[in-house]
Amino acid sequence: MSQEQPGTPDIVEKLVSLGKQRGFFFGSSEIYGGINALYDYGPLGARMRRNVRNLWWRSMIEARDDIEPIETSIIMNPQVWVASGHVATFSDPLVDCLGSCRKRWREDHLPDERRARGKPPDAPGCPECGGPLTPGRQFNLMFRTHLGPVADDAAQVYLRPETAQGMFVDFATVVQAMRRRLPFGIAQQGKSFRNEISPGNSIFRTREFEVMEMEFFCKPGTDGEWHRVWCQERMRWWVEDCGVRSSHLRLRAHEKDELSHYSTATSDIEYTFPWGWGELEGIANRTDFDLRAHSEHSGKDLSYFDTETSERYIPYVIEPAAGLDRGCLTMLIDAWEEEEVRGETRTVLRLHPDVAPWQLAVLPLSKKPQLTELARPLAHRLRERFRTEYDETQSIGRRYRRQDEIGTPLAITVDFESLEDRAVTIRERDGMTQVRVPIDSLEQACDEQLAACRAAALERARG
Ligand code: ATP
Repeated sequence: MSQEQPGTPDIVEKLVSLGKQRGFFFGSSEIYGGINALYDYGPLGARMRRNVRNLWWRSMIEARDDIEPIETSIIMNPQVWVASGHVATFSDPLVDCLGSCRKRWREDHLPDERRARGKPPDAPGCPECGGPLTPGRQFNLMFRTHLGPVADDAAQVYLRPETAQGMFVDFATVVQAMRRRLPFGIAQQGKSFRNEISPGNSIFRTREFEVMEMEFFCKPGTDGEWHRVWCQERMRWWVEDCGVRSSHLRLRAHEKDELSHYSTATSDIEYTFPWGWGELEGIANRTDFDLRAHSEHSGKDLSYFDTETSERYIPYVIEPAAGLDRGCLTMLIDAWEEEEVRGETRTVLRLHPDVAPWQLAVLPLSKKPQLTELARPLAHRLRERFRTEYDETQSIGRRYRRQDEIGTPLAITVDFESLEDRAVTIRERDGMTQVRVPIDSLEQACDEQLAACRAAALERARG
């Protein structure tokens, strides 16, 4: 078996092609030539994203009693971004190539860009063509638009570059509405927008993306311990719930000079992408920076009264912030394998069964009405409990290959014998093993098989 390691650049090209061909992701507005660094998710990508969002929601909200969900607006009062420091400092240093390629770069990414092109990191000039570069200048990453009909400065607003500020400005309202005591968290998932200088690597860095963020409010002095707890829990989630191999992940603490203006400690969960290590999630100790800034700027008291100790203080905050788009890209890269089966190359996405777009595919052996009349209602019945696809086109071999390629863990084949013995075959994606099970107890058999797939995914992820 030849397993393509994530270190193989080839894999991204293959994934981008599969993404389009099978409907995971592709460029936005392609009929008009697309638009730089914006993507659409097709039927399979949309399903997969929903599954990953649900896994996050389950582990962060439903499985706990100390986190409240909210959904805040994308456009907020612009003062939010003044108070948070985004208007003044949410910028990256930009340089332009004055040579032949005229590319625009993030100055702090120049060493990596040179390395990626096989040049020494400190080589002079443009990473692409070696031409001279302009001096660096700061470029604010927030998208601007106008609220209402008059496009003047007074109407200027921003598309949020993170969802976190929604949690801070709603902190006091949530405490009161839910009668919350510390420590507790507020979480949300949603779109964010950054006018990135050098987007790229497919859906790794885009200008519109979705984050899954949680702000965990705790007593000052307990923040160090909570930071440790959340680093551990978030790493566990990527491995155990999403099936990303732990041997391809690392937790990296930021150096002092890397820390954001609001943070005393940040650790990134990174994946070894074909182009090097890249961040999937950041777990930051944001201290009391945001609540304090909003208290001062808005004039509303966002301190917390601790009834146990009769103290009033501004809570400290630990923030795990994960990217959904990057997460999905990671899971696809990590799941990709190619192997030789009977002289042919089989591409298989070994996705965790809770991440895969479909759990089951019902496949009648042929389009003959005797078979489809049994198979179609069976798929309908299974949809009550499982994410089930039905496919009666093409040869059964091609349909198995397609299901392997899109990561469906179980394929259920209805054949002519099924008409006699009222049983069907379940084929498992990874080992291609087949078992015959009675139609009457199919749900139970699928449950058992999916449980076995989950156990196998866990074993693979833990390595
Ligand atoms: P980077 O250093 O890669 O620019 P960041 O440290 O600015 O990322 P955060 O502000 O911590 O990122 O955002 C939380 C998460 O959101 C990141 O870990 C990443 O998964 C995701 N993310 C951030 N920017 C983008 C982007 N432009 N495209 C896709 N996902 C992104």
